Amino acid sequence: MAAEPAAPNGLEVDFLASSARALADPQLRRNFRRAMDGLMAKRAAVFPDPSEWTRLRALGGAIRAKNLLKLPDLLERLEKNLTKNGITVHWASTTAQANQVVLELLEARGVKALVKGKSMVSEEMGLNHFLGAHGVESLESDLGEYIIQLDGEMPSHIIMPAIHKNKDQIARTFSEKIRNAKYTEEVDELTAMARAVLRQKFFEAGAGLSGVNFAVADTGTLCLVENEGNGRMSTHVPPLHIALMGLEKVVERLDEVAPLYSLLTRSATGQAISTYLNLISGPRSGGERDGPREVHLVILDNGRSRIFQDPELRATLACIRCGACMNHCPVYTRIGGHAYEAVYPGPIGSILTPQQEGAGLWHELPHASSLCGACAEVCPVGIPIPHLLIRLRREAGHRVPGSTVLGAGSARSRLEDLAWSVWGWVLGHPAAYRLASWCATRCWRLLPSRAPVLEAWTRSRHKPRMAGASLQERLRRSGVPDA
Ligand code: SF4
Repeated sequence: MAAEPAAPNGLEVDFLASSARALADPQLRRNFRRAMDGLMAKRAAVFPDPSEWTRLRALGGAIRAKNLLKLPDLLERLEKNLTKNGITVHWASTTAQANQVVLELLEARGVKALVKGKSMVSEEMGLNHFLGAHGVESLESDLGEYIIQLDGEMPSHIIMPAIHKNKDQIARTFSEKIRNAKYTEEVDELTAMARAVLRQKFFEAGAGLSGVNFAVADTGTLCLVENEGNGRMSTHVPPLHIALMGLEKVVERLDEVAPLYSLLTRSATGQAISTYLNLISGPRSGGERDGPREVHLVILDNGRSRIFQDPELRATLACIRCGACMNHCPVYTRIGGHAYEAVYPGPIGSILTPQQEGAGLWHELPHASSLCGACAEVCPVGIPIPHLLIRLRREAGHRVPGSTVLGAGSARSRLEDLAWSVWGWVLGHPAAYRLASWCATRCWRLLPSRAPVLEAWTRSRHKPRMAGASLQERLRRSGVPDA
């Protein structure tokens, strides 16, 4: 069993309390319901042919599985070819190391302002906060990220970070937080306000930062999928471009990107293709008039190589971050992303976060599922999410010899352990078993409906009803002899 690190910054997580708060917020629930219904309908419309979906998904899953099998080799090849293309590669085992790499790159060039395209890895790193503490302004340029940055919030969805807000709420934020902004609920006017602020920042910033959707090992190409053009601006206008990626994002060949890209855009937003697909193969060369003068890639591990060691849990790393599992999850659609209190919410977060940050601290997340299987059904690369949820539930709460899960067994309950030991002993002793069933069938009525020990169960369910006699007694009464 791998030891679990202490919670970062004394972080305390309480999924039950935060989800109860979310459920009590009718506006939040309306916002999510409307948004998720829309996303589900759009996705269904772009996968009209089930056989095409099945074939494409099998191809996408096979590509990701093959790439993960060859991961160490592909990462070496990627570094070699990126370097050949003039892109400098940095490796970071932890988020602290990755933050330090970014800071040193900025400090060495005297950069005090950074514009950011969307990057979930930067959320993992808490990069904005870290840079702010070191005197560097880091401005989100993705519209959704910009909105939540104004409000000091975390993303509530990996593709649409401000999906928890409606138009009125965004209008209020803009009128309060953007200088000289008037109150308007017109989407075009709101977008124009954000654009007016951001456009100027692209030209003033000393560096731009982006995520990476796929990194192609054979060609040394970074692929960036986006709709707003802010990714292209962040990566092309400032003189320095820093890209961040988790080490699992590597694919072997450029032709493998096409099916994954199609699965990603269709599953994420119901688009056949996104507005922009940026293929970055190096800094500006001699005769070129635009593009950054330097490109750096930071490859982050942060627990991924440990996940990679387990042949079953490795499937988690196949994720292409489309968000479809969230959009279709009956839990996520009711409580929204913030209730998970994690960088990655929804079904993918419920399998990824406990593995990255420890099953002790995050042991409630694998239980945040009805196990209906909708997430696995829509996952474009076929990750068996419910199966992995069940495994993480078991290994968080029990000592499983040889478990590779970080903090396995650290959510054990002594009371539960005792109950199972007693139950095991009773099952092994027929006389005790007969006595226990006799007592249970006669005495269950004496249990108060709201006994504290049963409260978590009976709060939303009826107290269990026992039969009037045990099966053995009933068989005996019907003349069946004891075995
Ligand atoms: S687990 Fe599957 S459905 Fe969920 S974000 Fe990842 S690729 Fe998309």
